[in-house]
Formats: sequence, structure tokens, C-alpha cells
Amino acid sequence: MRTELLDLLQCPNCSSGELELIQKENNGSYIKNGEITCFSCGLKMGINGGILNSVFRLNPEAQDELEGHKIMLLRERNGLTDEWLLGLPDSYSIIYPDREWVDELADTQDLIKRISLSSGALILDLGAGTCWATNLLTQLGFRAIALDISTEKFVGLDSAEIFINYYGNYFERVLSDMGFELPFKSNSFDGVFCRSSIHHSHNIKKTIAEIKRVLKPKGKLGIIEASKGIFDKQKTFGQKEKCIYKINEHIYSYIEYKGMLRESGFEFTVYNVPSLWKKFDLFSQGKKPKIKLPLKHKIVSFAVRLFWKNSCIKRLIKKIISNYYVLLAYLFGLQVIIIAHKREDKIDKKT
Ligand SMILES: [Zn+2]
Repeated sequence: MRTELLDLLQCPNCSSGELELIQKENNGSYIKNGEITCFSCGLKMGINGGILNSVFRLNPEAQDELEGHKIMLLRERNGLTDEWLLGLPDSYSIIYPDREWVDELADTQDLIKRISLSSGALILDLGAGTCWATNLLTQLGFRAIALDISTEKFVGLDSAEIFINYYGNYFERVLSDMGFELPFKSNSFDGVFCRSSIHHSHNIKKTIAEIKRVLKPKGKLGIIEASKGIFDKQKTFGQKEKCIYKINEHIYSYIEYKGMLRESGFEFTVYNVPSLWKKFDLFSQGKKPKIKLPLKHKIVSFAVRLFWKNSCIKRLIKKIISNYYVLLAYLFGLQVIIIAHKREDKIDKKT
């Protein structure tokens, strides 16, 4: 980390902003090793390899997730190289063939466009994982901070060094559990990004409340998430392997997201992800995902094969889906882009 980060930090245990930084090793660009101590409660947070470690208690679900990452990495390690990291997000499909069905780059670019923050804005990438998107934000001129529960290279924050060394643009990395208090002062960020990460939280309501707290009064929250429809009974994503890996894959309906955001004081708008059109393109080419498709997807796939090649009908379908996306997400559970901002609290006028 760099010393400037200290201005944004507060103790995740007692919320005090009175912190002492001790540098043990500085490579000329950033502090590689050191320690931050809270004056109030005495909590110590280590800085290891440039990453600030603010985790001081472990939730069993978060612990399971970390174990799950390790098991998954052992299986995938042959394909995982520094080049693979630099090729993200497209290179995900080399290891996870079903990722061919999403266009994460297009979805993320759409999120960045829709959140419309000005260059230099400070963005927290919550659940940043391998940090490819944090790196993208940094390339685009934002000041981005990556936060994740894992440091594991190829899954978590240790991957960031590859991007920083290759592109020469520095960004901060903070190890933290998003289900507890975040180690940042209130009203710090212009934007918070949660790209397919918020459903991993072991306490999603707490996570949303913390996002609201660390956002500036006019700050914006950008979410990309899958959702389940009103008729779906499942409690997790239907990926058996991930469950074996013990990675938290909670799934919420659009209505649940709506309720949680409103309750926390957010106003928001919902959009479709560009990935949806990629799925339709692949369906129209007769491709099928490796996973077994539920009936509703089979019907969509059939309809798309009939009509998607006609450009007039394609335009019409796109228009109808975009216009009625909230309803479709509510009924069938679709991946959504949510752009939220803090509701302005009414100021009490003293008479
Ligand atoms: Zn403290």
C-alpha cells in the first residue's frame, strides 16, 4: 500500500480513524511490508506483499470459501499462468468452458458507461478477485481499490502484481470480509462496483449497509448479478461443482435485491447485460451450453433459433426485452445491471 491509503482507512473493529503506520519494507513505489495499529483498540493489520490485511475474525462461510478456492486451484493449476491472468476476462473460457456464454468485458464496460463517473473518481471494486477489472478501471483513469477475501494468486489479490508490473499502473489491494465492517471511513468513495460478487457475502444486508456508509453522499453503486425468478426454488446457483468446493453461491431474486437496496436507502435503475445478446447469438448458431438447460432456456433457445437471424425482428426483440427487462428479471431471473445511488435524506428544517 501507499501512505495515501491511510487517509481513507478506519479500524474495522472499533471504527476509529486514529491509526499508526509502521513501514518495514518499501520498494520505492509502495510499502511491501509493514503494519497498521489502531490507537483505540490496539488491533494490528499487517501489510504483506503490498496488500493490507484487515481481516481479524473469520466467519465459517468465508473460511469455507477460502478452502474452496484452494481445492479448485489445485485442480485447475495446469492452465493457470501469468499470461492467462493478463488475458482475462476472455481467458476464463479456457478453463471454464461455460464462460464462453458470457461477455464479462462487455458487461463490465457497460457498467462503467452507465455508472458515468468522471475520470479520477475513487472506486471500490468489492470482491475484485483476480483484479482484472480493477486494472481496467485504473487504465481508464479512475482511482480504483481492489477488495477481496482471498489473496490466493489466480483467484484473489496476489494476482494484482502481474497487472501492476505489466501495465505500470498502481492500485491498492485490501484484504477484507465484505460481510463485516469495511476498513474505510464513511463518505469515502465516488463509486462501488460489485461484479458478480455480492451474492458471495455471508451477510448481504450488512454488505449493502456498509457500501452505503462508505459511499459519498452522491456516490453510486454498480452491481452485476444473476438473479432467480419468482418460480425458482433454488437457494444456490445450480453448479454442483462449486458446492463441492464450498464456495458460497447464494442466489436472490430481483425482488429480494430490490427490497434490500430500498431498505438500505438506495434508489436504482435496472438494465440488461450485453451478455444476453451474446447468448442469443450463440443459440442462433445452434450452440448449446455444457450444463443441462432448464425448460425456460430451451424454449428461449428454440425461439431465438427461429427469429434471431432476421435483423428487423432482432432489433424489435432487443427493444422489447430492454424495455421490459425488470418484469422479465422478476419473472424468470436474469442477469441484471443495477445502478444505484444513495437516496437523499430529508433535511430537518429547524423553525
Ligand atoms: Zn480499533
